[in-house]
Amino acid sequence: MATELPCPNCGQPTDLSPDNRWRPFCCQRCKLIDLGEWFAEEHRIPADDSDDDPSEPPMADDHTPPH
Ligand SMILES: [Zn+2]
Repeated sequence: MATELPCPNCGQPTDLSPDNRWRPFCCQRCKLIDLGEWFAEEHRIPADDSDDDPSEPPMADDHTPPH
């Protein structure tokens, strides 16, 4: 008794049962694309509140002298 509808993004038959965590989409990719392709932005725009700015060299925490 599977309930299937076309995926809103790609149109392939999609299982709408609770087993499908991406429902009503067929997969994570289709769900993210429908949400506005934020995943693409995530790869392009760094978090401005983060200390992990790759443009700045990290502090040398490993500069401790050996025993
Ligand atoms: Zn799809």
